[in-house]
Amino acid sequence: MQQHDSIDGLVVRVRDMANHDRYLSVLTAERGRITVLSKGSHSLKGAQTAVSQLYTYGNFEFYRRGSFYILKSGSPIHPFYALSMDIDRLNLAAYLCDVTYELTDEGEEAGDMLRLLLNSLYAVSGDRYPQETVKAAFEMRAAVLSGYAPDLSGCTFCGSLEAESLYLDVMNGALVCSECLHKRARSNDGHGVYDDIREADILAPLSPASCAALRYVSEAPIERIFSFELKDTEDLRLFSAATQTYLLSHLGRGFDSLNFYHAMKQDTKD
Ligand SMILES: [Zn+2]
Repeated sequence: MQQHDSIDGLVVRVRDMANHDRYLSVLTAERGRITVLSKGSHSLKGAQTAVSQLYTYGNFEFYRRGSFYILKSGSPIHPFYALSMDIDRLNLAAYLCDVTYELTDEGEEAGDMLRLLLNSLYAVSGDRYPQETVKAAFEMRAAVLSGYAPDLSGCTFCGSLEAESLYLDVMNGALVCSECLHKRARSNDGHGVYDDIREADILAPLSPASCAALRYVSEAPIERIFSFELKDTEDLRLFSAATQTYLLSHLGRGFDSLNFYHAMKQDTKD
């Protein structure tokens, strides 16, 4: 028994088979990440080729056989062609899609994650904001959407937000000011073990401005998530180091696409 259906979504991963068939991982708002078989799309003659490309946001019409989706036809809504005009854009898009793939699943509603990814790809493809800003804002908000929201209201011990140097205690999702951090380290001298902050904890240093940026991207409406500015390059560096450490530590893994993005960026700087 075949059922016809259609849904809007973004292709976040493709897997090519030897017979010109292609499996598409499509992120949708209503059904989360679904797998759609696109027959013959990997040859240029396939009728569904246009919509079967990585980073294409489109409408997908398919047959359903049990839990299996087979693409019938489709039309691109926003193909993000401009991503492929620049290697750094393309590498960053690959990383954002890899993170999205990791954080989503079939059957889990993913409207906010889809909007975050679409807004990010839109910003990257049009160079609307610096790539470092988009990457960092995406990382923090993706972590928040996945249930890892940190408490950024103040130092977890004394409540202070005024301290010149704060740390993001990554695995506990909390802020610690440098004074409380040192006090605790001293009071535990000789024991080798801290009560609340253990040596093994991952601490990301923050300035007041980078901390304010973290708070902004965690809470701002997704449409306005990139509308902030860190003028000082050191503030931006602390902010983006914290978001990357935060996301990867909570996911417990790294990404080849991220290493590649950093390596190529470095290359073009030299
Ligand atoms: Zn404190």
